[in-house]
Amino acid sequence: MIKNKKQSEDIRPPVVVVLGHVDHGKSSILEAIKDLKITEKESGGITQHIGAYEIEHNKKKITFIDTPGHEAFSAMRSRGAKIADIAILVIAADEGIKPQTKEAITHIVGLPMIVAINKIDKPGADAEKVKRELSVQDILVESMGGKIPSVNVSAKTKQGIDELIELILLVAEMEDLKEDKTGIIEGAVIESYMDSLRGPTATLIIQKGTLKQGDILGTASAVGKVKSLEDFKGRPLKQAGSSLPAIVLGFESVPVVGEKVKIYSNMEEAKKALEKPSKLPLESSVVEQGKRVLNLILKADVFGSLEAIEEVLKDLPQEKSALKVLKAEVGDINDSDVKLAIGANAKIIGFRVKTNPIAKKLALREKLTIINFEVIYELAQAVRNLLEKIIGAETVRIDLGKIKVLAIFRTEKKRQIIGGKVIEGKIRKGVSLEVWRNEEQAGKGKVVNLQKNKKEIAEVEKGSECGIVYQGNVKIEEDDVLEAYVEEKRKVEL
Ligand code: GDP
Repeated sequence: MIKNKKQSEDIRPPVVVVLGHVDHGKSSILEAIKDLKITEKESGGITQHIGAYEIEHNKKKITFIDTPGHEAFSAMRSRGAKIADIAILVIAADEGIKPQTKEAITHIVGLPMIVAINKIDKPGADAEKVKRELSVQDILVESMGGKIPSVNVSAKTKQGIDELIELILLVAEMEDLKEDKTGIIEGAVIESYMDSLRGPTATLIIQKGTLKQGDILGTASAVGKVKSLEDFKGRPLKQAGSSLPAIVLGFESVPVVGEKVKIYSNMEEAKKALEKPSKLPLESSVVEQGKRVLNLILKADVFGSLEAIEEVLKDLPQEKSALKVLKAEVGDINDSDVKLAIGANAKIIGFRVKTNPIAKKLALREKLTIINFEVIYELAQAVRNLLEKIIGAETVRIDLGKIKVLAIFRTEKKRQIIGGKVIEGKIRKGVSLEVWRNEEQAGKGKVVNLQKNKKEIAEVEKGSECGIVYQGNVKIEEDDVLEAYVEEKRKVEL
């Protein structure tokens, strides 16, 4: 383990994110670290959950992104910010790898990782089994001959928490995280809210450059001028940088969590850089005029699910009707989703999420269906059905056969009786006819009656001669070719 090597001036603290399956102890580990490292007196200033906190261990600092679940991390990834330097994968020793563990692994790709096998205090804990399960996922921890450090911890008894902190510092040292105080600001919004007294309040982590009072800053959704900067305990700061969480006041509106932060030379420029509300690729798909559109609101448990859903939806054929995702978000279905759906005539599709009671009531009243899924394939299938439904039925022509006209027996005002031979397929009583003369369509009509050997018959097949009572918009002549067909309404397949 590393000794007290002081963080030199140009080393910046690592920003750490904690990921893992629900209930495996992410929040508990973050709490345990806080409890061990931030004393009551010191933390007195923390009145709001600000989404990140810093600790000091052996004079070295670490920033933890303190948002349970994958939301903040996912949001940052989806909005392009790369703020985390190290990921801690939490796995409960009594449960082992679960679906969200695998999902977390896919999120973490490319980041240095530490495995924290939690709940080691529990009777059913089996850390070795967890390590074996990890190896199946191509995560080889050090004791299994791999390179990924792992530590057994208990957020409950605090066993191993110190060791986890030291491992983080060790990994950070190997990563050689340099501080760059100059140049363009690179940072992200970790948490944001509207404070009733202080106005829009945002926790930022600035990884590159230095943010000072008076700076004009902007994200994709909000601009502002830095009025004041505070550290995570609410103490005033002169400037923010070095990957430590800083509370910033001065935004004109509440910026979106996960957005990148930039500095501008003036407000006009910052405003010019504002984007329309964050868009997902499907949303921006141009919809051709006349094409029917299926509006969707997607809600999913985690960002990874949203990504996966968008992938499969993108693959649905959209030649005949188009899919438009108005909103794709992580979280339960709420009343604002329902209101949006009603206003925009959209369907709400949930994936492993709940519908909150107000939303349920509203949806029921407005007869809006909310469909929930547990399996992505089933979700895609349902959306495909919806797409087919909005196109409605289409009329399909089914060709039956061709008849060569051999004789005209009788011509009346409205109808003719003709003799012909079925030269292709078959002909049926009641079917439609196209009259072809010299390779050109001369008119249309239908088979009122059909006879074979002077007897009424329902169908005549290729090779047979027959008598046809014809009615149509053109008089048939000898040698015409009649094309027999029927039209059917069919559900459209994509
Ligand atoms: P998260 O969903 O991953 O944030 O999980 P939580 O931190 O909320 O923990 C889920 C449950 O597991 C809670 O009831 C915790 O008290 C419990 N828990 C967390 N860590 C430990 C641990 O180390 N040992 C034991 N026995 N229980 C734990």
